[in-house]
Amino acid sequence: MKFENSKKLYKKALELIPGGVNSPVRAFKSVNREAPIFVKKGEGSKIWDEDENEYIDYICSWGPLILGHNHPKVLEAVNEIIANGSSYGLPTRYEVDLAELIIETVPSIEKIRLTTSGTEATMSAVRLARAYTKRNKIVKFEGCYHGHSDALLVKSGSGLLTEGYQDSNGITDAVIKDTLTLAFGDIEKLKKLLLNEDIACVIIEPIPANMGLIETHKEFLIEVREITKKTGTILIFDEVISGFRLALGGAQEYFNISPDLTTLGKIIGGGYPVGAFGGKKEIMDLVAPIGRVYHAGTLSGNPISAKAGFATIKYLYENKEKVYKELEEKTEYLVDGINKLAKKYSINICLNTLGSLFTIFFTDSDKIENLEDSLKSNTENFSLYFNTMLEEGIIVPPSQFEAHFLSLAHTKEDLDKTLISIEKAFKKIGEKNGK
Ligand SMILES: *Cc1c(COP(=O)(O)O)cnc(C)c1O
Repeated sequence: MKFENSKKLYKKALELIPGGVNSPVRAFKSVNREAPIFVKKGEGSKIWDEDENEYIDYICSWGPLILGHNHPKVLEAVNEIIANGSSYGLPTRYEVDLAELIIETVPSIEKIRLTTSGTEATMSAVRLARAYTKRNKIVKFEGCYHGHSDALLVKSGSGLLTEGYQDSNGITDAVIKDTLTLAFGDIEKLKKLLLNEDIACVIIEPIPANMGLIETHKEFLIEVREITKKTGTILIFDEVISGFRLALGGAQEYFNISPDLTTLGKIIGGGYPVGAFGGKKEIMDLVAPIGRVYHAGTLSGNPISAKAGFATIKYLYENKEKVYKELEEKTEYLVDGINKLAKKYSINICLNTLGSLFTIFFTDSDKIENLEDSLKSNTENFSLYFNTMLEEGIIVPPSQFEAHFLSLAHTKEDLDKTLISIEKAFKKIGEKNGK
């Protein structure tokens, strides 16, 4: 395989853009590659790079593309309005349509505000929780990622982990002091914190997928809900990944737990820039212009994103009896195959999976339940896995600390081809480890 055009573009990008990329994980640094691939186009389960290499894609834009690349329904929806103009800074019907569909499908959301990214959604939800409770401190879990606003970058996951650190520079001591963090799953410490201090909100990925996919226990989430209720603390479910991914109503439907506020993103924009926060009317009505919690955006709820998101969710809604089952079956088929191959080549892995998400942790542990567990993984083995897959025409997340995403466009043929490549990767890892 040749990567000349990507390498050239990367070289140029390095002069112009810090690290050559507009989001750190894209640099492929932690998987020891000279350059990332530069993508030219996508269709269904596949993408093509600037050197015309074809890949089966398990990144799927990090989650939005649950229907696959360039889905005809989404393309048709966008085409219907794209010639009309782009954005007006005034309301459009498409925002109302999307809001209505989300409120109908996500159980705890009574009112919703659209943003341009997930980062803005979580940032605004935290501000809203502080205004509602008139408290300052917030609680988040180590390794959960909620975008890159100051308060939420403390002990964060995703790209930071990939780069080998957890806290960003440039955040004031005051902000760090107001963000309390604890290990995912540590209910005793959470109870102690909430009972002893005034905490505005607990923000959590109900299905943590930004330190690799972490196993969640429903009992833990139930206890989080109970203690936050008891202490008058707002519970924010960050469902930017899990929303519409596991079920129409996301993790809250899947686990049957109702948060006070929910943040969404990714899937609800159908591949276009988006985010949203919503929840109880009583809380949401504090948002400007009716309340005094300020949130705004030049492109908030822009018509193209709203229309693409609506088309995506509508497709899922109309086919809900089969889409989630189909996604789960495909993922199960793949994951079963991977587990069998790991056994065959004596590769120690812990394969966490839920719905259409999974992470192969290269580790001796048989349980990965929090950041500490996740960080014990062998990233050299992961790198060998990533690179073998890439050279085989399969693109997986370029980091041990991210999830693989399946889409409805992935075919049985794709999955079988993937398993053949994984067998090669595991063989290499086995040889390297002298087995
Ligand atoms: C991706 C993500 C975000 C941030 O969304 P952006 O649109 O990238 O700003 C927030 N929370 C979670 C759980 C995410 O996965």
